[in-house]
Amino acid sequence: MVRVKDFYMTDVFISFKNTYGGEPTRDSVIAKQLYDIMKAHGFDVFMSNSTLSECGNSNFKEEIDRALDECKYLVLVGTKEEYINSPWVKYEWDIFYQDIISGNKPDADIFCVFDSFEGTVPRTLRYKETFAATQDGFSALMAFLSSKTGRAKRSDVFVCKNCGKIFTAANMRGCKYHPKKPLPITERGFGGEIREFLLFPCCNKKIEKNNPHTGGCVFGFHKHL
Ligand SMILES: [Zn+2]
Ligand SMILES: [Zn+2]
Repeated sequence: MVRVKDFYMTDVFISFKNTYGGEPTRDSVIAKQLYDIMKAHGFDVFMSNSTLSECGNSNFKEEIDRALDECKYLVLVGTKEEYINSPWVKYEWDIFYQDIISGNKPDADIFCVFDSFEGTVPRTLRYKETFAATQDGFSALMAFLSSKTGRAKRSDVFVCKNCGKIFTAANMRGCKYHPKKPLPITERGFGGEIREFLLFPCCNKKIEKNNPHTGGCVFGFHKHL
């Protein structure tokens, strides 16, 4: 049975590996940036949250399947072959691809956002339009998606080079960041175990190594390159 979709509820499905060994992946950081920049451009976006599957949520597959049906484009974020071939991520882009070639979604497409990719790109994805996870790459992807969806492209949405947040030319306030890169340090815990931390030399703030860092000691306006 071929089901032809003549409309889509959502523009983009962002597929990525969320965590590895309990730590957020670089892929998840890029995906979140991409989500924010797409929302700022006015796109409807679904960001799959694979933490649901890790919690064993039985509705996860249903939710993913519904979102895959409703989205016209799938954007795959990846830094490693291993991550994009992990079970849920692969399920998402592979089933989306099957839908395209079987005629269920004849006008749908897959795009990739890769960042210093490690490994080999799977054959299915090798000839897909690919963008870099940089300000220029994001801009090119937004221009591309705007032309595909017929939405007007905004030229005033940027990624802050200090804090990594998305901002518009109309609102540059709210930047919070550490001007110096954190240094890895280790300390002995009460039980004699070695614990890893990150220390910011700008303000001597110490954070847990696995704690995704937000905030900073300098406040001001966002900056773009
Ligand atoms: Zn600082
Ligand atoms: Zn900023």
